[in-house]
Amino acid sequence: MSVLDVPRPGWMTEDVILLEEQARRFIAAEYVPQLERWNECGMYDREVWTKAGAAGLLCPTVPEDYGGAGGSFAHEAVIGRELGLAGFDSFGAPLHSGIVAPYILHYGTAEQKRRWLPRMVTGELIGAIAMSEPGTGSDLQAVRTTAKKAGNGYVLNGQKTFITNGQHANLIVVVAKTDPGAGGKGISLIVVEADGASGFRRGRKLKKLGLDSADTSELFFEDLRLPPENLLGSEEGQGFAQLMNDLPRERLIVVVHAQAMLERALALTLDYVKQRDAFGKKVIEFQNTQFVLAECKSEATVARVFHDFCIDRYLNGALDTVTASMAKYWITDLQGRIIDRCLQLFGGYGYMEEYPISRMYRDARVTRIYAGTNEIMKLLIARSL
Ligand SMILES: Cc1cc2nc3c(=O)[nH]c(=O)nc-3n(C[C@H](O)[C@H](O)[C@H](O)COP(=O)(O)OP(=O)(O)OC[C@H]3O[C@@H](n4cnc5c(N)ncnc54)[C@H](O)[C@@H]3O)c2cc1C
Repeated sequence: MSVLDVPRPGWMTEDVILLEEQARRFIAAEYVPQLERWNECGMYDREVWTKAGAAGLLCPTVPEDYGGAGGSFAHEAVIGRELGLAGFDSFGAPLHSGIVAPYILHYGTAEQKRRWLPRMVTGELIGAIAMSEPGTGSDLQAVRTTAKKAGNGYVLNGQKTFITNGQHANLIVVVAKTDPGAGGKGISLIVVEADGASGFRRGRKLKKLGLDSADTSELFFEDLRLPPENLLGSEEGQGFAQLMNDLPRERLIVVVHAQAMLERALALTLDYVKQRDAFGKKVIEFQNTQFVLAECKSEATVARVFHDFCIDRYLNGALDTVTASMAKYWITDLQGRIIDRCLQLFGGYGYMEEYPISRMYRDARVTRIYAGTNEIMKLLIARSL
């Protein structure tokens, strides 16, 4: 469902379209009526996860052998897009399904996949990825969390912050140093099964500018003992390379969300200006309104074409870091510009909480910051010059 007049892209095959329709109906019936309450109380319910799992909306790319549907990134993308079009921007499912599960799928041992993936598909396990720390975010090699060898296992110590799904997560992939002297080669991904783990503590659910019902939090690890089987994969020191390999997909997930949000903003604004009166006319009749929305629609269309191009490339195994970085930086910047211009056309109502455009203005700000800031995206692009 889109306000743009673009043909359906080739990556949307028939089964993907069916999933899109199913996701749209499910989200409208189960989540949309609750969004206001969740925003008011600052957290969505735990059962959101199990309901999504039961509806087949979690981890669609997990193979059938591990309890999933064996889909592709196309299935992932339509679910993320429908969440964005419906306004459930705080839900951490795209991170759970599109970032955490693939780490396990791509780098885990067969035993680790059997142990964790089926329960991620049902929503019994909720994933988080803990990279950022109070002292470092962009510069991942500077993380201070350590996983020191103790017997044949590890002892984890450190603090993480800004972690999406931080209050609900019970399967946390932690970026830690197993060899603090070895720079990037000393980083490993280590998995914490948080339920009842002694030495693991959740800190504050952080107060934020937007995404009010998202449980972005601090996490603490204090002499947390982990068996060797919790090292992701079978070899230490692979963490940095694993993170780098998976970054194009992470960026693409943000791109899908940003594109859905900017299309939603445009749709809401068109509805509004067609019914609002000023000086005896509808607001859409002012040439300024038409020009602003003509610009927004044109830029949104250009973005959509690039978005579809990137998804297509990813599905063909050909999305490189530079192209993914261009899409992430450019489409999230555009998202901010479009939502800002749309909000202006609502006048004072655009500033009121009861109008979704006001919340979108706050919620959208973060896409330029997380999954690698847009400045880091430009650094990566610049390396290709
Ligand atoms: C709502 C939210 C959810 C998040 N979820 C997660 C999560 O689930 N897991 C997780 O690990 N992290 C998460 N993050 C953290 C996010 O990824 C980091 O905030 C981000 O990577 C930036 O790191 P930083 O905040 O430490 O900023 P810094 O790295 O301190 O950057 C500060 C400023 O300096 C700029 N800068 C830094 N280095 C350079 C450079 N080399 N050249 C030019 N400019 C530079 C940055 O672009 C930025 O403008 C989340 C953040 C938010 C706000």
